[in-house]
Amino acid sequence: MKIFKDIKSFRDWRKSQSGTIGFIPTMGALHEGHLSLIEKSKRNCNITVISIFVNPLQFNNIQDLENYPNKTDDDLLKLKLKKVDAVFLPNKSIMYPKNSSTIVQELTLSNSLEGQSRPGHFKGVTTIVSKLFNIIKPTHAYFGKKDAQQLRIIQRMVQDLNFDIEIIPCKTLREKSGLAFSSRNQNLALEYRKKANIIKKGLDLAKISLNNGEKSATILKNIISSKINSEPEFDIIYISVAESNSLKELENIQAKEILISVAVKIDGIRLIDNFTYSS
Ligand code: AMP
Repeated sequence: MKIFKDIKSFRDWRKSQSGTIGFIPTMGALHEGHLSLIEKSKRNCNITVISIFVNPLQFNNIQDLENYPNKTDDDLLKLKLKKVDAVFLPNKSIMYPKNSSTIVQELTLSNSLEGQSRPGHFKGVTTIVSKLFNIIKPTHAYFGKKDAQQLRIIQRMVQDLNFDIEIIPCKTLREKSGLAFSSRNQNLALEYRKKANIIKKGLDLAKISLNNGEKSATILKNIISSKINSEPEFDIIYISVAESNSLKELENIQAKEILISVAVKIDGIRLIDNFTYSS
């Protein structure tokens, strides 16, 4: 497994590679969810490249950035076991030299949900992902559906900016309890980690209601919030019922596919989850 810390050495190696190149951008503290994206790339592509970079530009809260887990040594071990071909592991000054003054910003999908609750988050994401796409030059890039809004914004960016890259959406992997794997789970105290599957339980109740013909977004949101609020330490940041592609909020559910998503704060740690539902 090759490890590259600067752009030139990666590019020199990249020139000698041929065939399909699958790429998985991450912020490290790797878990089963990340590893499932890697496995998918390894099944589908000749070469698999992963990046680890905690991108300061996508954090609107300095505390959140400082608390983000850093597990580089463990991560590299996991990647070696997975037989990843190359890891791109730049530092901040490589990705954002002092004189850089260009950003990439999506202007429509980025304003709601995570974008509304974390102002500036998605311009950080689109900027870093564009830069990584230009460095790695993958043929395929793998993104988790757990970050559903991010996935849609990246798909839009690739279309709008004519990146010649196929975006592969990957299903959300969950712990046995139902809690979606997230690097942030590692910061949860055990007592909260045990209870955090209440988020998935709330979403599951909404799904049952949809299966029973419920069409009111307000009722669905109430079902989810009552479940999550049964744990008093869990603060709901938002619950959204939106059209799946435009991410426009719905009241009466008529759209073919909807995205139901939630963000919750537990003991200062922000967790998100979602599901899509097709009628
Ligand atoms: P992150 O390191 O959190 O930026 O995530 C890197 C990639 O892994 C993103 O495409 C995420 O959507 C994806 N990912 C994170 N958690 C999961 C999960 N539980 N299941 C599948 N993919 C995930």
